[in-house]
Amino acid sequence: MRERVVSGSLLEWLKKHVRGLNHHSNSEVSFDCPYCGAHSKYWLNLGLRGVGHCFRCQKASNWVGLMMKIERVDYETAKERTRSWIPYIPQTDRGDPTPEIPLPLTAVPAWSHPKGRAYLESRGVTEDQTLLYDIHYDPGTFVNHLILPVYRFGRLAGFQCRDLDPNSKHRYLSGAGSKLGDNLYGFDIARQYEEVVVVEGPFDVLRTGPFSVATFGKKVSPLQEQLLSQSTWKSVTVMYDSDALRQTLKFARRLEAFKPTFVALVPPDTDPGSLSATQLGDVLADRTPVDHVFAKAVRLGLQVGVR
Ligand SMILES: [Zn+2]
Repeated sequence: MRERVVSGSLLEWLKKHVRGLNHHSNSEVSFDCPYCGAHSKYWLNLGLRGVGHCFRCQKASNWVGLMMKIERVDYETAKERTRSWIPYIPQTDRGDPTPEIPLPLTAVPAWSHPKGRAYLESRGVTEDQTLLYDIHYDPGTFVNHLILPVYRFGRLAGFQCRDLDPNSKHRYLSGAGSKLGDNLYGFDIARQYEEVVVVEGPFDVLRTGPFSVATFGKKVSPLQEQLLSQSTWKSVTVMYDSDALRQTLKFARRLEAFKPTFVALVPPDTDPGSLSATQLGDVLADRTPVDHVFAKAVRLGLQVGVR
């Protein structure tokens, strides 16, 4: 039986504000790209807070960013107007009954706070990215922390806090109730793409691109593995830091049982977050099937032994 689309007023809003709206399934629509104008090239998932992207200009966005672009309103206005919208969750994607984890009340959009913005700019993160990933800055509850929300099937599954004080002993904290180890950073956004790249941390995702997800470290939980192996991606590429080759290989071999799996090897003593866009492009283009990784690692001078 076809399920009723309960996407709140997202669909109603799209009907009024976009051109060439086309339904492809009961959770997916396309329309003329609001960013480059290309006909019917912007594809959007009604379920994932309006996460979508353009197949022509590659611009990725969510419902807040779309509203800012189309209605020319600021972040606060767009956030307020979309507050009551409910992401439609397709039947096949259900199975997570946990309630949403609220962000700290004192958190503000990171780009709107001088400290949040200065830090993000220093890491090469753009305003568009802070909107797409809903990045916040908290001057209150988690003093001087960046708040990195983790969405899964349109619901806020938790958040990671990153202390911006360089002398802090605990650089990373999990928000109360957040099960980061059961989730992937950037999951809802990367689901729009056919292939996925798995990296270690959120900043690796921001550097690598919207088709990547992070496992919050080198340890991969059974639930994270399940999300990777059972989602619709046609292939998986693992791109961990250069000191994690052993973990990379073990993990990649397990994933290989489910779908084509590749390893992208970053140069010795680097991680994806420290490479330039060009370097990253080269590393990804040069990805290797799991069976050939060992020989290649030796050639690149990477530490292969047991650590
Ligand atoms: Zn476009």
